[in-house]
Amino acid sequence: MKINRHYLQLPENYLFSEVAKRTRQFQTQHPDVSVIKLSIGDVSRPLPMVVVQAMKQACREQGYAKTFHGYGPEIGYPWLRNAIANFYQQQSKIKIDPDEIIISDGAKSDLANLLDIFDTRATVAMCDPVYPVYLESNLMLGRTPQFFRATAANDLLPLPDEQITADIIYLCNPANPMGVCYQREQLKQWVDFARTRQAIILYDAAYACFIHDPNLPRSIYEIDGARECAIEICSFSKMAGFTGMRCGYTVVPKTLVTADGISLNQLWRRRQTTKFNGVSYVVQRGAEAVFTPTGLNAIQQNIAYYQRNVQLICRTLNKLHWSYVGGVHSPYVWIRCPGMRSAWECFDFLLQETGIVFTPGIGFGSAGENYIRLTGFNSYRNTQRACRRLLNLQQNKKH
Ligand code: PLP
Repeated sequence: MKINRHYLQLPENYLFSEVAKRTRQFQTQHPDVSVIKLSIGDVSRPLPMVVVQAMKQACREQGYAKTFHGYGPEIGYPWLRNAIANFYQQQSKIKIDPDEIIISDGAKSDLANLLDIFDTRATVAMCDPVYPVYLESNLMLGRTPQFFRATAANDLLPLPDEQITADIIYLCNPANPMGVCYQREQLKQWVDFARTRQAIILYDAAYACFIHDPNLPRSIYEIDGARECAIEICSFSKMAGFTGMRCGYTVVPKTLVTADGISLNQLWRRRQTTKFNGVSYVVQRGAEAVFTPTGLNAIQQNIAYYQRNVQLICRTLNKLHWSYVGGVHSPYVWIRCPGMRSAWECFDFLLQETGIVFTPGIGFGSAGENYIRLTGFNSYRNTQRACRRLLNLQQNKKH
């Protein structure tokens, strides 16, 4: 059997499976401890009621011949693509043609599947540490990426440099796992760099909804020249609590063309119409309701809820004098391992001593070796309990 042997290059366990395995072992050994998970980036707030109502209505429609919907357009219904284009106009004052927006079942699939439209010999560059999907989807295709390292020396916000020679550059802003966010001028450097090199930026904006400073760009298309070099990948997951519903979208500007005039928008549509049959009608109706005034208000409240959690985490870390970044325009806090332990050592130590599940930074790349990540996605009550446990840990150490 001729299998794809590149799969054998993948780390044996996907990061979160290993975290889950160690957590299960701990729970079996300590059934009396209630474990608090501040690790995986899954939301905890329920869907806004307006979204639920829209989906209920859509379900009812599916029960009657007159209103039944079978296969929809593979790239998404026009009413949802129009609603997203309006949102860009309102939020970032930029014009995106609804035909440039292609609906999907989430950012993860698009980030991996977009590789289909590039030459198999195209080279890639990405940050270290990085959201593991960028790396692993490339390893599966036999590509060895270049890395640009996020370190304390560059404030965990690497900028382009001559060493980067790749055709495809992944950027995640606000960054997962570091929780930091590029300034407008810094993103401009990336756009100018990509244009000069004729490289393409795959811009992951899954956490853009956490940016609350109007001076920071929420979309790469707020930067001049980005329409000529960037594809933006977005998600309803963190923005509107759709992690379990599955919906996202990717913007491929019509102005994105190869030197010989081939449109990337056309290629991506072609790929999606062949290999994907669209997101369910019910879920797309739910996503459309996110953009109603009631929907937008509800998602803002949920985002504010997570931001309150993150602020509490940051205040606690300040009290503990632990060094960290992030947590301002992001649900993530990236913490330097206290006591200079390695990431997995720190993970195991904190799990044993506090029953809190962190994410070890090494799971995101070698530059994460001395870091652990926390998220503000749990409930406020659990976040408070976790913070108390961390403060107690410090107290106990003193006695
Ligand atoms: N991009 C980043 C940086 C993420 O952290 C995640 C999920 O955690 C995703 C994409 C996946 O988003 P989706 O749920 O839309 O597949």
